[in-house]
Amino acid sequence: MLAAVPPPVTVRVPAKINLHLAVGPLRDDGYHDLVTVFHAVSLFDEVSLAPSDAPGIEVHGEGVAEVPADETNLAWRAVQLLAERADRDPDVRLVLRKGIPVAGGMAGGSADAAAALVGLSSLWKLDLSRDELSVLAAELGSDVTFALYGGTALGTGRGERIVPVLSRHPQHWVIALHRGGLSTPSVFRELDRLRGDEPPPDRPVEPVLEALAGGDPRQLALSLGNDLQAAAVSMAPDLRRTLRAGVTAGALAGLVSGSGPTCAFLCTSADAAIDVATELAGVGVCRTVRVAHGPVPGARVVDLHEPP
Ligand code: ATP
Repeated sequence: MLAAVPPPVTVRVPAKINLHLAVGPLRDDGYHDLVTVFHAVSLFDEVSLAPSDAPGIEVHGEGVAEVPADETNLAWRAVQLLAERADRDPDVRLVLRKGIPVAGGMAGGSADAAAALVGLSSLWKLDLSRDELSVLAAELGSDVTFALYGGTALGTGRGERIVPVLSRHPQHWVIALHRGGLSTPSVFRELDRLRGDEPPPDRPVEPVLEALAGGDPRQLALSLGNDLQAAAVSMAPDLRRTLRAGVTAGALAGLVSGSGPTCAFLCTSADAAIDVATELAGVGVCRTVRVAHGPVPGARVVDLHEPP
């Protein structure tokens, strides 16, 4: 008798923004210690996995020209890593549908890798917990772990050591997508260049944690900060105009997301976010705008008929 072929599994995974990103000095191994607050927002990629005699990866959606559809794709590396640990052949077809901007500082590649781990574990009925998958996630990249859990979390080390953070109310965001992307390593190099021999500025994380616990977006707006912002703006000076335009349009505050060039604007409510997005879209300072809310859960298997 033939074994039944398991049906495909689809995983939805969110983008992240960093509400706080403090970058320590350059270490001897070329990395920087980070203290960051990750916040998962409602822009999603979808990753489907199905058993296949023609294993490989397909990529659809925005920015596909910039996404490798081969074994260098981070999601495919996740499949290979889990297959190796499970002692199986990676005989699956992976389909990525990108909704997260590519090279936008929103960790889209890391999100896809997290989704591939969750999806393959489900497809192969490996029954691995998120904590077990997080060991593999940390091997794949520093933002992959957060994408497994989502929500709001404090990240340390290179960002791979995370603990959940209490965040009392949903927050409403306008996300401004830029033309083109910025390479994360080059933004870190620019930060090192700008700093020269100066020590990193003191950027305590407590105010942002207190603001999240309190839930008041006005308080949160005062405590947002990103050490990479100056470097991203130095490499893409147009971002200065984008950041100014968001606040002029009525946002409480704006900041570059991670290494940029995507900018995130905090708004007082869902309605205010729609107003800010409409106005910002009309000024022509970015490629497109999206409205989003956070925190949202991390990578999870979805029923395709379920709304996002
Ligand atoms: P980072 O996580 O380093 O902050 P980012 O969010 O700015 O990165 P990504 O969208 O993750 O940017 O893409 C960074 C680069 O990784 C892309 O230019 C692309 O070549 C490569 N890449 C590999 N796998 C993927 C993937 N699944 N989705 C998007 N990009 C990928």
